[in-house]
Amino acid sequence: MPSDWDDDEGMPEMRPERPARRRGPSRGQIWRRRLVAIGSIAVVVVAVIIVLTSSGRDDDSGKTTASHPPQAKKVAHKAKKKASGKVTNATPQADWVPHRGPVPILEYHVLGHPPEGAPYPELYVGRTDFEKQMDWLEERGYEAVTLEQVQEAWYHGGKLPPKPIVLSFDDGYRPQFTFALPTLRKHGWAGVLNLKAEGSDLYESNVKAMIAAGWELAAHTIHHLDLTELGPEELEEEVAGSRKLLQKEYGVPVNNFCYPAGQFDETVVKAVEGAGYTGATTEISGFAERGKPFELDRLEILRESHVKGLAEDLKNGEGATAELGA
Ligand SMILES: [Zn+2]
Repeated sequence: MPSDWDDDEGMPEMRPERPARRRGPSRGQIWRRRLVAIGSIAVVVVAVIIVLTSSGRDDDSGKTTASHPPQAKKVAHKAKKKASGKVTNATPQADWVPHRGPVPILEYHVLGHPPEGAPYPELYVGRTDFEKQMDWLEERGYEAVTLEQVQEAWYHGGKLPPKPIVLSFDDGYRPQFTFALPTLRKHGWAGVLNLKAEGSDLYESNVKAMIAAGWELAAHTIHHLDLTELGPEELEEEVAGSRKLLQKEYGVPVNNFCYPAGQFDETVVKAVEGAGYTGATTEISGFAERGKPFELDRLEILRESHVKGLAEDLKNGEGATAELGA
């Protein structure tokens, strides 16, 4: 797997180290440098004073430029979330309410730039884009929960945030641990990891850390094959076998399943039900509904989606939900 998936977008380029000096500087050079250093410090101090006093004036008068309010709000919001650092939504909160209606489930794959020649570049969502999407969701009042929490509310009288959403991550790519986990944590949210039992990019310790942060572990078969093309034994192995494997390896319940490449038919659904799963996610676009536990629609977020596409998907889903009278 290409190693640059782990590289952070927007990070400054690494500079090669300078060769070591042969001789030390002369006294004159040292003094000149000290004077330059003192001069630069003075300039910085003056600049800071100017900035502080001018921003203070802005606050006092209540007057701000057009670009100020969102920026200021964003910084304050991020600082607040970072300070808490707790995944609050791993457990029900005081303002949660009963919920039996449809819930949007987002589907993500790799977070980062596609390496050259990547077979599905559209499945790589930029990291800045991802952060913006998470910020946008929170600003619109959405709160991420796990699919198990949704099912608890749908079928067992549990409660959900006023605007619940599920964030699902397929296959098990490294940036889901290195980037999605800390990003979601800033918002107090947990995701759902649809993990391919063998051959994913995640280490066992990565998956354990995600589970410890409240993430739900869901099965995504062992080898990521098209289930509609398998014979009964192989189907059983991929569907029931992956559940057993994950439960044994991680010591947590695995209650949900995700169809590889969204491929399923009646036989596959029967195998999933028979293996004891309580739900299964597809790649059909729409909101997930309690009446279709083994055909839970999702909204696939792609490289070109950005915040705009996410907003449109959610709006369309809400529209469809309203038409259904749900
Ligand atoms: Zn997959």
